[in-house]
Amino acid sequence: MGRAFLLAAVLTAWALPADARQPDAPDPEELLLLRTMQRIEMALVASDRDAWLALISTNADPSAASDFFDAAVPRGVTRAVVHERDRQALDGALPGDGYRMIVEVFIESGARGQLSTWRLDLRRPAGAAVDPETDDTPWRIVAHDRLSQLDVLHRLELNRERMFQASNMVLTSVDYQLRLTTGSVFVADTEEGVTALVLLGEGLMTFQPTPKTERGQVRLFAGDDKVESRFDTAFVRINPYDFDEALAAGTLTSAAADGRLLARAREVFDEEVSRSFSLDLSDMSRDTWSILPQPGDVLAEVRTRRWRTLTYVRSGAEPEDVTFFDRERQKNISIYASPQKLSSRGPFYNEDDLTEFDFLNHEIDVEVFPERQWIAGTSRVTLRVKAFMVAALNFKLADNLTVSSVTSQELGRLLFLKVRNQNSIVVNLPAAFERDYELTLTIRYQGRLDRQTIDSESTQSDQGVRRDLDYPVVAAEQNWLLSNRSNWYPQSPVTDYATATLRIAVPAEYFVAASGVPTSSEPEPLPPVPGMPARHLFTFRTGHPVRYLGAVVSRMTRVDAATVALDIVVPPPPPPAKSVTVAELLAPPKPPPVGGRNPVDLVMMGNRRQEGRARDALTTAADILRFYAGLIGDAPYPAFTVAMLESDRPGGHSPAYFAVLNNPLPATPFVWRNDPATFTDFPEFVLAHEIAHQWWGQAVGWKNYHEQWISEGFAQYFATLYARERHGDSVYRSALRNLRRWSMDQSDQGPISLGYRLGHVKGDSRVFRALVYNKGAAVLNMLRRLVGDDAFMEGLRAFYADHRYRKAGTDDLRQAMEKASGHPLERYFERWVLDSSLPRVRLSTTIRPDAVEIGYEQLGEVFDVPVTITLQYADGTSEDAIVALTEASGTVVLPARARVRGVDVNKDDAALGTFDRR
Ligand SMILES: [Zn+2]
Repeated sequence: MGRAFLLAAVLTAWALPADARQPDAPDPEELLLLRTMQRIEMALVASDRDAWLALISTNADPSAASDFFDAAVPRGVTRAVVHERDRQALDGALPGDGYRMIVEVFIESGARGQLSTWRLDLRRPAGAAVDPETDDTPWRIVAHDRLSQLDVLHRLELNRERMFQASNMVLTSVDYQLRLTTGSVFVADTEEGVTALVLLGEGLMTFQPTPKTERGQVRLFAGDDKVESRFDTAFVRINPYDFDEALAAGTLTSAAADGRLLARAREVFDEEVSRSFSLDLSDMSRDTWSILPQPGDVLAEVRTRRWRTLTYVRSGAEPEDVTFFDRERQKNISIYASPQKLSSRGPFYNEDDLTEFDFLNHEIDVEVFPERQWIAGTSRVTLRVKAFMVAALNFKLADNLTVSSVTSQELGRLLFLKVRNQNSIVVNLPAAFERDYELTLTIRYQGRLDRQTIDSESTQSDQGVRRDLDYPVVAAEQNWLLSNRSNWYPQSPVTDYATATLRIAVPAEYFVAASGVPTSSEPEPLPPVPGMPARHLFTFRTGHPVRYLGAVVSRMTRVDAATVALDIVVPPPPPPAKSVTVAELLAPPKPPPVGGRNPVDLVMMGNRRQEGRARDALTTAADILRFYAGLIGDAPYPAFTVAMLESDRPGGHSPAYFAVLNNPLPATPFVWRNDPATFTDFPEFVLAHEIAHQWWGQAVGWKNYHEQWISEGFAQYFATLYARERHGDSVYRSALRNLRRWSMDQSDQGPISLGYRLGHVKGDSRVFRALVYNKGAAVLNMLRRLVGDDAFMEGLRAFYADHRYRKAGTDDLRQAMEKASGHPLERYFERWVLDSSLPRVRLSTTIRPDAVEIGYEQLGEVFDVPVTITLQYADGTSEDAIVALTEASGTVVLPARARVRGVDVNKDDAALGTFDRR
């Protein structure tokens, strides 16, 4: 099976779906087929080739059947299980005469296990009699094929006889060390060698990440730039090869097992062994089966005295191969790439590089029952193989949803496995398929799905709770948001741009807004079904690729609509290149210009109490759409709906084609004050931020979690630009002040590039918004002031055009801005986005009759920082100049047009950092 499968299995446990086909009281015909499966089991357990051959049809090739059996059966079989998973009538066979069966076969040989999927074609010869004495099944195998097989599985057990005395035994991995100064080591072995260890005694664990940013995160957790703790118990999984190396160091000596220590070690082992590298085979076996870590991979669960269990994982297959986390609190303390990993992949990565399939199109029919929070869907997804070769497909779907079938237009019924607690399904393909192979899968599923809450843009719930509430709270109208975190339809493990058709059926009193252009302004009544309430169908076509599909269901009405004409000045096409480079020839073709200059169909919806608000927001929403389309020269999606909803918490969410705005009712216990996302003197701010996501976050995505500022920082900056457009300079300046305040307050929590991990360790999401949203916006604003308005806008448009319907990162932005401005900007992004420090500048001003001389010195690291210097003239007027500080120290002379009374530095708050006057 492919890497995708194994990745999913690591650090979790998965289960096969229970066989739903098993009837309560099987009829005699069913019993005959069941008996056939049992006879295969018996042949396997006894390694009895003749018993297998007795089941082979006389029309089949006996030597092929013999070879198949020999290849399938390992030595020393102790148990075998054969379970039917799927059945179809065999081509040309009458019902009851022939079946094509998919069966799962699990064979144990002592502590080794082997799980495989077979396809068996069975026929019942005409007139075959059943002789209960000799041959109690008339079914014969006419064809057989092994579709897939999992690598060897191990049932691990602690070795009771083997104990080691440790004296300064050291296990090391990247930036990590476990030292057992003195104590005992128990092991679990396999034929390949030792793969699990329990350490008891006097130990010391040290984790000291090399990257500066990660040391900063560790400092937030431990108060020091390394985590060091004594421990008395640890559980370790390694590859046997790595254990042999540790053993060779001579720090372990064999000793007689001590019963009391063994009992303690077994307790630890039993608790930890199923947590990682282990599989739950459900009805095939009740035992825990484990896979071996790859050479170099390590997992250590260390019960520290100070922080309880801290887990270290080195996993070479991940783009960031080192992880250190707090097991109890489920917090990632540190995640990064080792030097080895960086040398193989470079400093930046795209999460798409790990996916094996490209999801091209979704066709989803879904029935939504909002009151029961239940959905039932059929999804037809078209995929293309991206990897060199794959034999399994991984897709995401909420754990609560039960899949009843997966079929492929090209390959027929397919076997699937549910990965437990991972919102993930693995589909086994009957063979390995090469790059560019296209297939269409139909997946049927249903189940309960809780409402997705808006957390990414919402306020801090434990801040500003009004405890003095003494009047009744009006219940907010409920809404049901199915979006990026609901996993409500089968989707790629990471977001993947695709087109779609959505057909959503809801009870007639509900309305739907979703990703795509609605095919009609009114829903289509569905034919009545006896015993069911009246239902309406909403259809949406998503002709332009979207990162993910969203939908919101609520009791709402379509309040108003408008066609928003976009007045876009088209920049002249670039002159044709004189010669074409190899890189240009190999580059993927740019998407053709879409109807980005066509009008956008804008629809306003609202819950009953929000209808007025929705109506009022129409002109503002139209104005914002026009403004952004004018800046970028394109509108990525031809339709946009704003749904004004109710909630006890304010917030917004903006999938492609629509946005949801949560409006708190007057008596809400939550207030949105003192939050980085709040701009009190600019009421349209949330709407402006959410609409900006159509360009940033949706049309242009982000390559991995480090790059989320491409979405949030840009949306925040665009909202700030709209504030100036709409309300003028004073509101704009107050917005800049707000950006600066939050950036200055929280910058020491880590760089913008930490994304969701900002504030994660201490559980304060305001840190994330302060830095990814506000500092991100401030950094864009400073970039604009550094390279100039024209170069900035040209760079921004080029960046957008090159990455529309794709994912982008900081380095792509740097290249676009460098090209447009001619400035080298590596240091700019390095300092402002990838690092967390701020400029510390000391300035001196000397006023001369015709000029002002500004001397500066950067006391810390050298930044590129544009600062506004304001000359206050004696006549009461003033003049602003942007001075770019780009050296460790320097002098700038500003001409003065009159007598200067005073000089202000950074009066507009546009620059981040401290600027002290000497
Ligand atoms: Zn946002």
